Amino acid sequence: MFCIKCGVKLADTEKKCPLCGTVVYHPTLKQEDVPPLYPKNRNPKLQANPKAFNGIIIFLFLIPMLICLLSDLKRNGELNWFDLAAGGILLGYIVVALPQWFQKPNPVIFVPCDFFAATVYLWYIDFATKGGWFWSFALPVTGGFCLIVCAMVTLTHYLHRGKLFIFGGGFIALGAWTIMLEILLDLTFNVAFIGWAIYPLIVLALIGGGLIYLGISASARETLERKLFF
Ligand SMILES: [Zn+2]
Repeated sequence: MFCIKCGVKLADTEKKCPLCGTVVYHPTLKQEDVPPLYPKNRNPKLQANPKAFNGIIIFLFLIPMLICLLSDLKRNGELNWFDLAAGGILLGYIVVALPQWFQKPNPVIFVPCDFFAATVYLWYIDFATKGGWFWSFALPVTGGFCLIVCAMVTLTHYLHRGKLFIFGGGFIALGAWTIMLEILLDLTFNVAFIGWAIYPLIVLALIGGGLIYLGISASARETLERKLFF
């Protein structure tokens, strides 16, 4: 049997030409359940092999590490800053590549893990350089930011409604966080307190308040929708 339009050879079971889509109808042939001559999908999607991809990504992260190791050794005859560079590369790997090991990476788990890894890295920099800023500055700043982001990620992941309220509250919390940032900068590094944090606070609070207002007012949502979409 052949397609009447394009002439391609067809199985007797074919109800439609797989090439041009013309409906096949042959009054004297019974269309039985025989497998068709051609696969239904002309370009079957290839399934990625996560193990091979992860291997390549680890290799890509090891190259800059090796370059840092060699250049630090060559320049100084000993390791001076390799640990800091390696820690940064490792942190990049944890944040970017580690979730890809899992089939369905759950942000509620890996976002706190990323913050934890970043905090450990900051602690190490502070310790290695005798900075004295980790406990009074880096820990509360990253900790506060972590709490806000993790709360937003967890709420949006498990609640299927109220995203406007979650993001609105998140923006307002970020505004409060910038105030804490300025105060801690002042306390730890003796930066003059001039109150610059009030400006991001105002902007973030306005955005957050606007989102919450949209969440409350259905008519405001409709008006915005009409303005944004045709
Ligand atoms: Zn055809």
